[in-house]
Amino acid sequence: MSSIFSKIAKGELPSYKIAETATCFAFLDINPIAEGHVLVIPKKEVDYLFDIEDELYQDLMLFSKNVARAIRTIIPCERIGVAVIGLEVPHAHVHLIPIFNVHDIDFSRPKLSLSEEALKDTSNKISEAFLAL
Ligand code: AMP
Repeated sequence: MSSIFSKIAKGELPSYKIAETATCFAFLDINPIAEGHVLVIPKKEVDYLFDIEDELYQDLMLFSKNVARAIRTIIPCERIGVAVIGLEVPHAHVHLIPIFNVHDIDFSRPKLSLSEEALKDTSNKISEAFLAL
């Protein structure tokens, strides 16, 4: 059975899409710990990040870099923090999180409650920034 993230990448489930390449897809985390919290995934379904074949891993990291640059032009932050956890969804994903300090990337913090409009607005802005890179 396809993972929830495979279904998102195929457009079978909705997401606040940021951008995609031939091999990777980026979208807002639905339960963000910071505004502009983005997930970047390989379209191919691989559970564990470090099981990804080299070429796809390089695609994923390069795409993550460009998405992070786009986020930083839109969301006020010191820098974009990067985390890989993967204990909840068995489809490799990179968390990109705008941060000012180490506490901003603490996953035990309460999740933000953002409206659909706010999420849509953020994803549109980051998406436009990505295209303008
Ligand atoms: P983890 O696997 O521990 O890295 O956590 C999975 C992450 O995916 C969590 O931050 C969730 O909020 C996020 N998530 C789960 N389902 C969705 C979804 N349908 N759309 C966007 N983000 C999701």
